[in-house]
Amino acid sequence: MTTGLQEAVLGRVLEPGDDDYDSARSVWNAMIDRRPRYIVRCSGTADVVAAVGFATDHGLEVGIRCGGHGIVGHAVPDGGLMIDLRPMGEVSVDPHTRRARVQGGALLGALDDAAQAHGLATTAGNVSHTGVGGLTLGGGMGWLARRRGLACDNVISFEVVTAAGDTLRASADSHTDLFWALRGGGGNFGVVTEFEFALHPEPGLAISAEFHYPVAAAHDAMRRWRDLNGTAPREATYTATIADATVALGLVWVGDPSDGNARIAALGDGLAEIAEPQARVIESWSYLGLQRREDDIEAHAWRRYWKGHYFSELADGAIDALLARDAEDLPNVSLQAYGGAIADVADEETAFSGRDTAFEFVAASRWQDAAEDDRRVSAARRYAAGLERYASGVYVNTLADEGVAGVRRAYSDAKLARLAAVKAVYDPGNVFHLNQNIRPSAG
Ligand SMILES: Cc1cc2nc3c(=O)[nH]c(=O)nc-3n(C[C@H](O)[C@H](O)[C@H](O)COP(=O)(O)OP(=O)(O)OC[C@H]3O[C@@H](n4cnc5c(N)ncnc54)[C@H](O)[C@@H]3O)c2cc1C
Repeated sequence: MTTGLQEAVLGRVLEPGDDDYDSARSVWNAMIDRRPRYIVRCSGTADVVAAVGFATDHGLEVGIRCGGHGIVGHAVPDGGLMIDLRPMGEVSVDPHTRRARVQGGALLGALDDAAQAHGLATTAGNVSHTGVGGLTLGGGMGWLARRRGLACDNVISFEVVTAAGDTLRASADSHTDLFWALRGGGGNFGVVTEFEFALHPEPGLAISAEFHYPVAAAHDAMRRWRDLNGTAPREATYTATIADATVALGLVWVGDPSDGNARIAALGDGLAEIAEPQARVIESWSYLGLQRREDDIEAHAWRRYWKGHYFSELADGAIDALLARDAEDLPNVSLQAYGGAIADVADEETAFSGRDTAFEFVAASRWQDAAEDDRRVSAARRYAAGLERYASGVYVNTLADEGVAGVRRAYSDAKLARLAAVKAVYDPGNVFHLNQNIRPSAG
């Protein structure tokens, strides 16, 4: 190293050829194979400040890595400097104030574990090896969201290192424009070195229920499932998955199990009036078990491709398009209900968009052989394109390779203008552009 970067930081700096370099540059999606010039394993906020300063002084592109789950791998800059926040993974909980201080590189599992040790929780996503960083900055959907709001709705403050190397705290009282933008605007505005979350009492009991139908005969049952979602209590998040030739209609319940069992029985009866399911799968979980239930199926080292949509209503035509599954190599599908506390927050209160969503749709493909890349990606694109006319937007954290057009689907024009104005204040040179990018507004 010729540069003095290692001398400027406490954490290790990795370069091509170093022992841990290849593992440090690999992320969840095995399609991403990029080679940063430097990987700075940041040990604290001062290292982040030094890394940002070094990158800007040397004109290096900056990637910010937390959990590494970003589907397009923006965290890993080819030839640039990767700010690797994983060594900053600590979570400390104050059970009296019900607050958690979470370092910028923490994974969801660390947050859930630390909070549940005190009978507390806040909204986090459904796979424990996802990063708090990327998830929260884009919004943060999870099984508690209909009761407690999105992850970003539970942030009290952010500590942020800006492009100029300043360390700021953004909250409802300080840098309020930045506080607004960080709740849904993604990694555009700086490196978040600490999230302060509100926690809530959460006894930690959950139930999941699935009623399985063959895709060819699921249309009416899916319509009934959609209609029943309209009266669901906030403890219930209605879910549907489609894998191969089977649709699983159901819900996840976090709350009092006897109420949950009653709701599940009502859903089962409502569906059975339409058609008997092929199978019923009803499971009880601890909250922490629920939060890890998909960890293996969503393991690292698969090649992946995603397409997302928001549906503000699930029209009959959309259900028919979802169940049109006669092509080859189709992605698996998941639908997850929004509403409840997500919709209690006014749209203009945060950068996050899509609070009127009824269901979030993700089409997800995974495979191992690079020879299948084109086939798999094309099949997922075609399938998702068939649903686009029913879509009301897209969750920024499920956006893949749609570029500027995707960002325009994720935010309204008014939100984009406001985000661009905040970007112009905190990152006028667009140092943080490896993300679903908000360009700074001119002047
Ligand atoms: C298996 C899996 C399950 C998921 N489940 C859910 C879910 O239940 N709910 C949900 O809402 N989303 C979910 N997602 C989507 C997820 O929110 C996004 O993929 C998110 O970007 C992942 O964040 P990360 O920190 O793991 O990824 P990274 O790739 O490390 O980061 C993604 C981007 O976020 C930004 N970023 C990350 N950390 C920081 C930081 N500290 N400061 C500034 N910028 C930062 C950077 O721009 C970075 O490029 C899931 C994704 C996967 C792969």
